[in-house]
Amino acid sequence: MTTESNHPPAGEEPLLRCGFAALAGRPNVGKSTLLNALLGQKVSIVSPKPQTTRTRINGVLNQPGMQIVFVDLPGIHAKQTRAMNRYMNRTAISSLSDVDVNLFVVEALRWTDEDQRVLDELQQAGLPILLLINKVDRAQPRERLLPYIQEVTQKAQFVEVVPISATRPTSLEKLPEIIAKYLPESPRMYPEEHVTDSPDRFMAAELIREKLMLRLQEELPYGLVVEIEGMGPSEDEPGKLVVQAVIWVERAGQKAIVIGKGGALLKEIGRQSRLDLNRHFGQKVHLELWVKVKEGWSDDENAMRKFGYET
Ligand code: GDP
Ligand code: MG
Repeated sequence: MTTESNHPPAGEEPLLRCGFAALAGRPNVGKSTLLNALLGQKVSIVSPKPQTTRTRINGVLNQPGMQIVFVDLPGIHAKQTRAMNRYMNRTAISSLSDVDVNLFVVEALRWTDEDQRVLDELQQAGLPILLLINKVDRAQPRERLLPYIQEVTQKAQFVEVVPISATRPTSLEKLPEIIAKYLPESPRMYPEEHVTDSPDRFMAAELIREKLMLRLQEELPYGLVVEIEGMGPSEDEPGKLVVQAVIWVERAGQKAIVIGKGGALLKEIGRQSRLDLNRHFGQKVHLELWVKVKEGWSDDENAMRKFGYET
């Protein structure tokens, strides 16, 4: 009888390339879009507005021979006026040294002080840094792309430089393999079907907040938080999920805007949220939405804790 030494005994899991990869970058470069594209499902909400991602979100990618836990982070930004902004920066920066490898996401043809600030933090963390140059699909004029890549490549000792487009999944096919090279060998950390750590209530609140981020203008989205007050099977309609959510705003005037003329905007946000919730939870959702005012919550650490942003 022979057993090959490098094969684990029956019943034990083989070693994989397995570890944590943080998505770091200034707001709006496409970190959350990239995470969702890699996983093939939405675990982190996306909008054209900066500061859409407020807290650390884990998404697990399983492929043959590897398990990568992507850590999506709030964008590291220069303005830190309110407690919420300080919370987002702190969450992002403290996570950078807490992973196996850092993925530094920038936007093709752009380099700002905020990009430099993130790079400084990454160099402090001292882990391997992969540079991901995102949004190459819209890099215009085209001939500036190569010089741009050459220029940013010089800014630090990157272990890899990969141009990508998070909105074009084919440009991402090689990425997991490239990242896996920088992960330790270990047994699987999560069951294979596990995609995110985020609890259902958090996902529900985020999906609703995403619709608000998409529909509301200017400053309003930054003073919003969605709290799930109740979530569970419907008593009246078997198979249906009831979600009761409160949209907290900072001022009475904001409440009127969120509700809209004759309740039209709130109704539309409710409709879009419900469709996304149906899809996410794989069952029909009955959504009840309220809008309430809590003055200055985003600069009030007690209120932030109540809403789940641990400070
Ligand atoms: P984050 O703040 O870094 O997480 O950025 P998001 O993932 O929220 O994306 C910000 C905006 O950029 C959204 O409107 C995305 O649709 C858009 N975006 C992200 N990646 C790409 C890309 O590769 N190409 C284009 N054209 N747009 C992108
Ligand atoms: Mg994000």
